[in-house]
Amino acid sequence: MKKVVKFGGSSLADAGQFRKVADIIHADPSRAYVVPSAPGKRFDGDTKVTDLLYALYHKAAEGGDMGPVLDTIRSRYQEIIDGLQLTDFSLDDQFAEIEARLKEDPQSDYAASRGEFLNAHIMARYLGYEFVDAAEVIFFDEDGNLESKRTKKAVAAKLENIPRAVIPGFYGMGHDGKIRTFSRGGSDITGSIVAGAVKADVYENWTDVSGFMVADPRIIKDPVNIDTITYRELRELSYMGASVLHEDAIFPVRGEGIPINIRNTNKPEDDGTWIVESTCQKSGYVITGIAGKKGFCTVLIYKALMNAEVGFGRRVLQAFEDNGISFEHMPSGIDTMTVVVHEDEFMHKEQKVISAIHRYVQPDVVEIESDLALIAVVGRGMKSMRGTAGRIFSALAHAKVNVRMIDQGSSELNIIIGVANEDFENAVRAIYDIFVVTQL
Ligand code: ADP
Ligand code: ASP
Ligand code: MG
Repeated sequence: MKKVVKFGGSSLADAGQFRKVADIIHADPSRAYVVPSAPGKRFDGDTKVTDLLYALYHKAAEGGDMGPVLDTIRSRYQEIIDGLQLTDFSLDDQFAEIEARLKEDPQSDYAASRGEFLNAHIMARYLGYEFVDAAEVIFFDEDGNLESKRTKKAVAAKLENIPRAVIPGFYGMGHDGKIRTFSRGGSDITGSIVAGAVKADVYENWTDVSGFMVADPRIIKDPVNIDTITYRELRELSYMGASVLHEDAIFPVRGEGIPINIRNTNKPEDDGTWIVESTCQKSGYVITGIAGKKGFCTVLIYKALMNAEVGFGRRVLQAFEDNGISFEHMPSGIDTMTVVVHEDEFMHKEQKVISAIHRYVQPDVVEIESDLALIAVVGRGMKSMRGTAGRIFSALAHAKVNVRMIDQGSSELNIIIGVANEDFENAVRAIYDIFVVTQL
């Protein structure tokens, strides 16, 4: 039995948390490879080390004084080192190098990656495990995408003769020989890469909740836990804002059929959630989970008889592609087509996109609406249940939430609903209530 264990930022926020993590690792000898995040928040309102490092990079880039931020970061690590009584251990050399490199050639990804780099050094020392730098084994291509095959080979080869190691999460080596990070929350991907490469039996992802819950605990008080969820359901939910696990973290383990077990560092006795390829276990409810995000825009394109124009959709999407904007959804009618995009990506380029749409398809009307929130209701059980959509909409009507958009994924695994940003929390509560609380 071989396990890869990833610990999130809150699980490693201070020396007390480090001790819990060490207890968890020592409790099971099969926990061989450890992937730590950078220290997260110790309390509400605290700042994650990763965010401090981005601030440090900005200081360096504008040629300002890095001193105060650097001191804050240094003291976060020193507190952990002192708390663990690692008396003959210091990160002075590493800090000196970080400072020098940021002065010479400030790089945002390099700066951000140092959070996990430093934490992994402490962890390796505390556990007596070998430190393996992710920059030696995780590779990105020139577009910044993970080079999966090369990475998998390199990780497997490196760890073949190292029975126990600590590998920092979140970063690897770019095509240009410079450090690259994944997007935020990316240590989850590193853990998955290591698990896939060493063909682990389980990838344990330790965080601050006892697994995946039916809805975001910041919106619903004490939501019920999900025991088992499929990779596909999880991907839908995490992409739509259930931040427990990075949405790309399933790929490296999926091909190997390795289950992911989400666990709580503060309650290691809880079973947590199992994420699997497929299961005959029914979820307790018709739906498996609800997730959502605010901050979308819709671009409605109206043109009489657009349905008869071959290539109309492609040309509309070309206008977005030309401006480097990806779209989320695209519900359409006979004479209308709506493209849903992220507001922050779209905002600065909206007039360019609109004029491109005019050039490409000569529409009758183009209308932009902003402040849209999207909610994904996800469940493998939905396709065999009649009336799921009906129940969602009557619950929303009761809660006086106006539905602005509907899109049922062709996989019948999810229904996406668009509501005004201000109705978002109410809508999530209404859907949760109808399926979980009242189970009507
Ligand atoms: P880590 O630092 O361990 O990677 P994250 O902050 O990335 O942890 O993810 C855990 C957090 O995800 C929880 O504290 C919780 O607030 C949030 N969260 C959002 N949606 C859900 C959900 N459906 N179930 C559980 N937690 C959720
Ligand atoms: N430390 C990084 C972040 O805050 C990566 C991670 O925690 O997974 O996004
Ligand atoms: Mg995370």
